[in-house]
Amino acid sequence: MQDFVYKSNRSHVIFGTGTIAQLGAELHRLGSKKPLFLSTPQQSEQVAGMAAAFGGENTLLFDKARMHTPSDITDEAEKILRESGADGLVAIGGGSTIGLGKALALRSGLPQLVVPTTYAGSEMTPILGETANGEKRTINDERVLPNAVIYDVDLTMSLPAKMAGLSGMNAIAHAVEALYAREANPVTSLFAVEAIGSLARALPDIAADPSDREARGNALYGAWLSGICLGVAGMALHHKLCHTLGGMFDLPHAETHTIVLPHALAYNSVAIPGTMDKLRLALQTDDPALELYKIGKSIGAPQGLKSIGMPAENVERVVQAALARPYWNPRPLEKAGLTELVGNAYEGAPPRSDR
Ligand code: NAD
Repeated sequence: MQDFVYKSNRSHVIFGTGTIAQLGAELHRLGSKKPLFLSTPQQSEQVAGMAAAFGGENTLLFDKARMHTPSDITDEAEKILRESGADGLVAIGGGSTIGLGKALALRSGLPQLVVPTTYAGSEMTPILGETANGEKRTINDERVLPNAVIYDVDLTMSLPAKMAGLSGMNAIAHAVEALYAREANPVTSLFAVEAIGSLARALPDIAADPSDREARGNALYGAWLSGICLGVAGMALHHKLCHTLGGMFDLPHAETHTIVLPHALAYNSVAIPGTMDKLRLALQTDDPALELYKIGKSIGAPQGLKSIGMPAENVERVVQAALARPYWNPRPLEKAGLTELVGNAYEGAPPRSDR
């Protein structure tokens, strides 16, 4: 057994079906009578309905949340927050809306309730990534953690099946890396194995039948656990590569994770025999990297980074960027191995765990 440090993040979680009915009681518990509701433009109508059910027609809604938490949007929301005299924040949506809620909580100190409707897991982490002047800045601050989280399976039913699959693969990636990240510990490893098993079973079922409520519930449960893993145990090669690729070529977040994960795991596999045994059990397979690749296929994920906008003849550039800013990983970063990893991910080829 390795030495470890275990630290848990503050959280108060309500999980189930129809749990949005507890919104009023939770806001009362947090001392908020006049919260500002947050959403993306796409979920504005849905969230306006929930806000009206809570406080009638005079409820406050800011519906301009966007990907990567642009600071000009946060400025605009903060102005409304201060002028309206709102006394709390309710973010209903995916990682983009939750990012705005976190940014506003940090600036205002107001209590924050989050209702996640994807599997991205941001609600469980003290991490906030903001963009200003085209640059992304990531901070790690416990003040961005929500005071309460309501998971309601009903609200995830409208997430299109393809998006659910990709978002779920993003969640699996959090849990896989938490098993071998530097901050890995026995508690988050238990969560990670449970999360991976639950999501791996649920995602193909959702793809086959998007109205499968049981599968949607199992995916949301796995996503919650994966979010805890990301918030406590951190990350390694896979996440860093995805950030590099996303920043360099503006590739879509969940798709990039889905494509890269099997290859990053295959690269690390020789250095993490204990983790591979756990993954064999969780995924019920002899070859976990290949199984993740197959799950990606079963949810209709794009095949290869070339199909989501990575320009040709850039494998070398990505590898150089990874080597130029080295970071902790269970297997040292080696040029030949990384070139094979990124090349395979670019082509959408099956991963190779045997070297
Ligand atoms: P998203 O929040 O951008 O949502 C994608 C789209 O789906 C949006 O239009 C949204 O309104 C819509 N949507 C969400 N739920 C829906 C539902 N149930 N029904 C119908 N439509 C729905 O996507 P995401 O993948 O959840 O979040 C991605 C963002 O979160 C990225 O910016 C990423 O960096 C960030 N993120 C942050 C952390 C963290 O810990 N800070 C963790 C994971 C992701």
